[in-house]
Formats: sequence, C-alpha cells, structure tokens
Amino acid sequence: MSQIKKFKTSRNILKVVAINAGITGIFDFKHYKHSNLMDNFDFIIIGAGSAGCVLANRLSANPNHKILLLEAGGKDTNPWIHIPGGYFKTMHNPETDWCFNTEKEPNCDNREMVYPRGKTLGGSSSINGMLYIRGQSNDYNYWRQLGNVGWSWEDVLPYFKKSEDFQFGENEFHGSGGPIKVEKIRATFKVLDLFLEAAEEFGYKKTEDFNTGNNEGMGYFPFTVKNGFRCSTAVGYLNPVKNRKNLKIITNAHIKNINFENKKATNVNYWINNELFSVKANKEIILSAGTIGSPHILQASGIGPSKLLKDNNIEIIKDHSEVGANLTDHLMLRPVYKIKNLETLNDIYYSIPKKILTGLKFLFFRKGPLTVGASYACGFIKSDPHLETPNLQFHISPASTDVLGKASLHKFPAFTPTITNVRPTSRGSIELKSPDTRVSPKIKMNYLSTQEDREIAGKSLKIVRNIVMNSKAYKEYEPEELRPGINITDNETLAVEAGKFANTIFHPVSTCRMGKDEKAVVSDRLIAHGLSNLRIVDASVMPHITSGNTNAPTIMIAEKAADMIIEDSKS
Ligand SMILES: Cc1cc2nc3c(=O)[nH]c(=O)nc-3n(C[C@H](O)[C@H](O)[C@H](O)COP(=O)(O)OP(=O)(O)OC[C@H]3O[C@@H](n4cnc5c(N)ncnc54)[C@H](O)[C@@H]3O)c2cc1C
Repeated sequence: MSQIKKFKTSRNILKVVAINAGITGIFDFKHYKHSNLMDNFDFIIIGAGSAGCVLANRLSANPNHKILLLEAGGKDTNPWIHIPGGYFKTMHNPETDWCFNTEKEPNCDNREMVYPRGKTLGGSSSINGMLYIRGQSNDYNYWRQLGNVGWSWEDVLPYFKKSEDFQFGENEFHGSGGPIKVEKIRATFKVLDLFLEAAEEFGYKKTEDFNTGNNEGMGYFPFTVKNGFRCSTAVGYLNPVKNRKNLKIITNAHIKNINFENKKATNVNYWINNELFSVKANKEIILSAGTIGSPHILQASGIGPSKLLKDNNIEIIKDHSEVGANLTDHLMLRPVYKIKNLETLNDIYYSIPKKILTGLKFLFFRKGPLTVGASYACGFIKSDPHLETPNLQFHISPASTDVLGKASLHKFPAFTPTITNVRPTSRGSIELKSPDTRVSPKIKMNYLSTQEDREIAGKSLKIVRNIVMNSKAYKEYEPEELRPGINITDNETLAVEAGKFANTIFHPVSTCRMGKDEKAVVSDRLIAHGLSNLRIVDASVMPHITSGNTNAPTIMIAEKAADMIIEDSKS
C-alpha cells in the first residue's frame, strides 16, 4: 500500500473511532482558501497555538469583528496529533514541530539540545504531553506583587475555570462546560503506584487535586484529553467556530514582520510558499507566536536590542533590550532505574502481542498507554523543608531511553522518575540570526548556569534516589540506578552528570515579559510598551515562570486577554 493510501486508511479508522467517541471536527478537512481574502481585518492574530486559538474563538464571537488567524504550520490532520500515545511521532517531525535546536549548552555536556515547538493548528497544545497543571497561587500573587494589576490568583482563577470542562463537574476550583476537557488518567502501571507508595514512606503525601492553587503532593496527572483523544486548543476552541463568517484562518502562512507607522502597528507581512502577502489591521495586531516566535518576529520588525538589529541591518522602530531576554525554562533531570518483575512500557514496546493488546484497548475502550503522552505520575515537593511552597516537580514515566524521543526504549524493564526545579534562576535568550524569519533564531538556554540551580539539581537527584533505593515499596523489585549512578554523591558532580542527561520539559516563557517597569515588553493589559495597536498574548508574557506546566497558564492568559481586548475595543 502506498504511504498516502496507508495514511488515508488509518485516518478513516480514526475518524470512525472519533465520531464514536463523540468528538467531531478533528477530521473535518475544510480548506481555507487564500483567494477571496477579505482585504482588511479588525484583529489579526499571529500564531494559532495555545493562546491564538483561544483568541480566535473569543474575539470572533462578536459577528461585527472581522478576525484573521495566521499560522505557519498546516492543519492538524496528522492522526498522531490526536492519539495521545503519538507524542513522540509529532515531536521532531517537521510536519508538526519547528524542530529547533539550542546553541551548545555549556552546562549540559556542550550539547545542542533539540527544542520542539508545535507548528500546526493548536501550536504546542497539539504536540504537548497534555498535562493539565496550573501552578501555585503564589506564582500569580507574585505576578501581582510585581505591579501587574489583575493577575493575582484570585483574579486569574475565573479564567482557568472558564476554559475548563472538568470531568468531575464544577466546584470552587474547577469549571464545567468550557472548551478544554480535563480528564483523569486512563492508564496505570504498578511501577508508578509503587513510586507514590514509596514517596509516602518519606512523608511525601498524596493529593487528589494539583490545581487548587496549592499543588503540594503526589498523584497522577490530570490530562487535556477528551474521551481518550487529545483536546488541543484547536480541537477545543477553533473547531467549533471555524465556520464563522467573520473568522478567516490561513495555514502555512509564515510571518515575515509587522509594519509600523509612527510606532502604530498597521500591517502583517507573511509568505505562503515564498510568495509575499500583506494584510492590514483596523484595530489590533495580536502576536501569539509563542516564547520563541514572538520575540523573533518583533526583532525582525525592528523592536529589540539596538545592537542586534543594527548588526542585522534592520531598521530600528524601538530599541528594546528585553525583547528576547529573560528566557526561562524548566529543565528535566532524567534519572533511570532498572527494575525486576514489574511491567514497564519498555516491555510493551518490544512485544508484538502486548502492542496489539494496547491498540485494541485504545480502539475499543479508549484506555491504556495510547491515551497518555510520556508522563503519568506527578508530584510537587520541596527541596528544602523551610520553603513555603514546593519547588520540585516529578514527571514519572513507566519507560526509559537514552535520548528522549530520539533513541529507542531500553530493552529491559526500567522507569524514569524525572525531577525538575520549577523556579530556576538560570536565564537564556532568543536572538535572530538573520532578518529573514525563515532562518531559526539563536536559542540560548543557559541551563544550570547559577550555583543555586546546580545545588538544587544535586539535592533533587538525591531525593529521587532515596525514594527508589531506600523504600520498602520497591525493595523486592531490586531497583538499580542506571543514571546518574549510585556512587556519585556530591551535589556539584551530580549537577555535572545531570547536565549530560537533562532535557527541556518544553516550558519556555518570559521573552516578552509583562511588567510596570520601562524595560518590560508589555503592560499588564498585554499592550506592547511604547507602541500602539500591538498586543502580545502567549507564554512569552509571563513575568515569571509558573511552578508547573505552562499550557493551562497560557490558555488562562489568552482567556483574560480576550476579555481585555473586547473591553478596550468598546472604548
Ligand atoms: C513537546 C511539548 C510538550 C509539552 N508538554 C506540556 C504539557 O504536558 N503540559 C503543559 O502544560 N505544557 C506543555 N508544554 C508547553 C505548552 O504546550 C506551551 O507552554 C504552550 O503551548 C505555549 O503556548 P503559546 O500559545 O505560547 O505557543 P504555541 O502553542 O507554541 O503557539 C505558537 C504558534 O505560533 C506559530 N508561529 C510561530 N512563529 C510563527 C511565524 N513566524 N509565522 C506564523 N506562525 C508562527 C506556531 O507555529 C504556533 O502554532 C509542552 C510543549 C511542547 C513543545
């Protein structure tokens, strides 16, 4: 069978399963023609990612607003986007991932680390691990404390609830009927249950809900999954409204730059197949191209550090030293434990009968490993008991590999209880390498570049080691530490080792940070400082990284931004 025939057959099978599951819209291949384009729009949204799809939905609810949504990637028709277990088939795949690389990271064995970002409708929410975690109330109270009015936990909780359709219905912390379905896990492994038991032996208690503002505790992740399928923002927000007459969605449109007249954003220029188009915004241009894409487009448009712009022969519209600065990310340290007499995903991966069973479980019951990305169990704990709130997060996977998403799984039973410092102090940057945005920018993460981060890396690996190697729960399964290696005990050597097997956990933020001060890129209403008709709405505006995963916070930001945009457009 040809590749295309195979694709169409599997797509049709999936379509039947999806309809059967009550999910419509995913496999509806409506084409948005570039011809007969309305010639100007009230709002132009750049990037159909986690934030962009929310905005497209909320802003087009008013039929008087003409909205254009521009996205560099294609439609989200790859079936593996929608099957959660297809996680590693969309990452590192140029059809759905920008396939960026970092610069050589000095504290990570000098590696140029792969840096996935979603490039399709739904953006990174179409290729992410679907883990639904909001962070801590303190994260948002700190944003407010920095002077950002309207961003305290109390202020943002209604927007988290508005976006949510919680499996167990509405309560003080959860919403129901919102566009993003949040479900409990549909697969478990004994090796993970044992981790939760082992952690409890050392005082790390279980929690029923990570999303109340206090995320301390251990348990299984909640997922942005609907009936066993991924619920990206394209599925939750865009599909239900894509036929609105006042909403135009153009895919495969790569933004070149934004034009300004007297510091007022006027036009967006974009390529489709190397042909250049320009479109005018009557009211606002909203940049939602993500933490890498937004500063990249701003710099190419003449907004950024003057030296960088001059070096690239770009006319300076506004000298802005912090566009692309403050890049913050969560680094996941990946210790691996070999184990005996417990099933892990490694075993399933190398067994044809087990693989078939996994496929059937998904097809008929929408249960099992195909309903999960990579991480199953979660936990938030403190590296130091004196801290007010947890600063470490577990993402525990019942599988192991040498290089995440690139190498095969190990051929022996093993699992990976990864540990992450959720409030790192290391900072990196995004800088364009060419005035042409089709050339990837320079991504410098500077992971583990502060003494504090190195200390915490060492401490956190010892916490994991203690749970696995010294607990009663695991004893009879004879765990063996493959990485970093039981003989390494001092924090600094552990930090060096950690750098060799660490990976991004894909949470870059803050390259267009919100703030009151002059150096901040946007105001607390997300309007670009010193410019007009331009707002930035995506993960890049976070004043500080949240203590957890970043998709739910980004959706919340876009929900709140939509209300502000609608409010401002009336005045
Ligand atoms: C592999 C992976 C796993 C992750 N796992 C999780 C998880 O399990 N839970 C969680 O909470 N978070 C997770 N995250 C992070 C989370 O998905 C992101 O924080 C969130 O999606 C960011 O949303 P955004 O709107 O800022 O950017 P994005 O969703 O990345 O959207 C940006 C959009 O802009 C488009 N764009 C960029 N540049 C241009 C251009 N020049 N022209 C036109 N369009 C452009 C992109 O193609 C993209 O569609 C993960 C991310 C990745 C990549």
